[in-house]
Amino acid sequence: MSQKLKILERDPQIRKNDFEQVSAGYTNCEMLAESKRCLQCKKPTCISGCPVEVNIPGFIKHLCENNPKKAIEILNQKNNLPAVCGRVCPQENQCEKMCVLAKKGESISIGNLERYAADIIVKNDIDDDDDEVIEKNNIKVAVIGSGPAGLTCGGDLLKMGYDVTIYESLHDTGGVLRYGIPEFRLPKKILNKEIDKLKKMGMKIILNTLVGRTKTVQELIDNGYKAIFVAVGAGLPVFLGIPGENLNHIYCSNEFLVRVNLMRAFNFPDYDTPVHRGKHVVVVGGGNTGMDSARTAIRLGAETVKLIYRRSESEMPARKEERIHAREEGVEFIPLTNPVRFIGDERKFVRAVECIKMELGEYNNSGRRHPNEIAGSNYIIETDMVILALGLHPNPILPTLTKGLNTDDRGYLLIDDNYMTSIRGVFAGGDIVGGSTVIEAMGMGKRAAKAIIKYLGQE
Ligand code: FAD
Ligand code: SF4
Ligand code: SF4
Repeated sequence: MSQKLKILERDPQIRKNDFEQVSAGYTNCEMLAESKRCLQCKKPTCISGCPVEVNIPGFIKHLCENNPKKAIEILNQKNNLPAVCGRVCPQENQCEKMCVLAKKGESISIGNLERYAADIIVKNDIDDDDDEVIEKNNIKVAVIGSGPAGLTCGGDLLKMGYDVTIYESLHDTGGVLRYGIPEFRLPKKILNKEIDKLKKMGMKIILNTLVGRTKTVQELIDNGYKAIFVAVGAGLPVFLGIPGENLNHIYCSNEFLVRVNLMRAFNFPDYDTPVHRGKHVVVVGGGNTGMDSARTAIRLGAETVKLIYRRSESEMPARKEERIHAREEGVEFIPLTNPVRFIGDERKFVRAVECIKMELGEYNNSGRRHPNEIAGSNYIIETDMVILALGLHPNPILPTLTKGLNTDDRGYLLIDDNYMTSIRGVFAGGDIVGGSTVIEAMGMGKRAAKAIIKYLGQE
């Protein structure tokens, strides 16, 4: 058995100066070599690792035959966003982890092959439109939020003939895929292409509409929507609650990334929104958001970027690949460290972070060892910009403004086994019910679409 074919990546010293992708993906020869390694298992365990159950050997078989058009047809049966998933799914913990070859460390590079199939269709302008005519049933369904959960649920309902309208509070679609994940990991043109496909199929999208405030759920029901899918994500930043957190040039990662990715602050003043370009940046948090913030700060010209995390590096929630890329680009990891206060100058601009060293104690409910402070180990890191990437809580606007929409004590919407919330006919999925990855959000969107179809059939 030949070895897994590693994807070629751009030199970190060059790529850290721009927002272009880290890798251009497999060449045709590489794709053929990698897809031929797939054993085409009779019982493909890889599928059980994919939340949307992509027919993995099915699409790889067509790639082996150098037929990406057929491969994409198979992918599209289960996945409305293959070019996105090929890039950002944590495959090492999902489909690739379940590949029979994983035990030998040689699992098939399913994500890279999926990306190849989706990209080559765009690159060579191959017509992959589904010619099947969809019979419309004129039943109106509203989707609130245009992130991966909303796009998937809406897309699946559309394919079944429903009249789907997505309401989005921002001026553009995609949720975190657009405003959170940076261009060098997920180019906007790739996302646009996948969303355009849904629009061509008849998806209606109404932007700049904050449901709960601009329009209520009751108004949607009164306007004839027979079911509603809530996919408003987790957009509420978490703070540390320590002294000095309000100093100037301390950003939460969401604001920093939205400014750069959505409002194109890296092109200021050609674009209206500015962003501070720190020279010595401290990022707090070891998740994907922390890595994206650190790598973006490097691309905005930071001379040093230090990433602080209160546990050890092996416990960082970020994907291994992101950690490797961040380090290659110059991000310095400082694990087992926590900030205790921020220190500012007389003009209230941040100038330093006082940190304390941590050690790992007993295992707690999360299955991880609890980080404890080491008394007297405080020290100072000088900085002129801090980015807090401590995770996100569920978006509270819609739940708090919608009477009868119940949440748990952490603010996640409560749903039953059929994805229905406490309001009949109102369903929910994605980060707002506790998901944390793109593909989990998509899986929930898919299952909710099935549940909505069943519900509307009974109604
Ligand atoms: P979202 O993507 O958050 O979309 C929700 C949408 O709803 C948004 O567009 C929002 O504007 C809109 N909205 C909110 N409230 C309203 C309202 N009241 N009315 C109308 N619209 C509303 N996951 C991975 O799998 N791989 C990664 O590499 C990865 N990297 C990440 C990097 C960052 C910086 C972040 C923040 C997250 C990352 N994640 C990653 C997590 C992943 O992006 C989320 O799990 C996923 O986007 C959740 O999808 P969603 O559809 O539930 O919500
Ligand atoms: Fe793997 Fe994600 Fe593709 Fe599923 S959608 S096969 S988890 S890369
Ligand atoms: Fe191919 Fe691995 Fe899936 Fe088998 S388990 S079909 S080798 S990807």
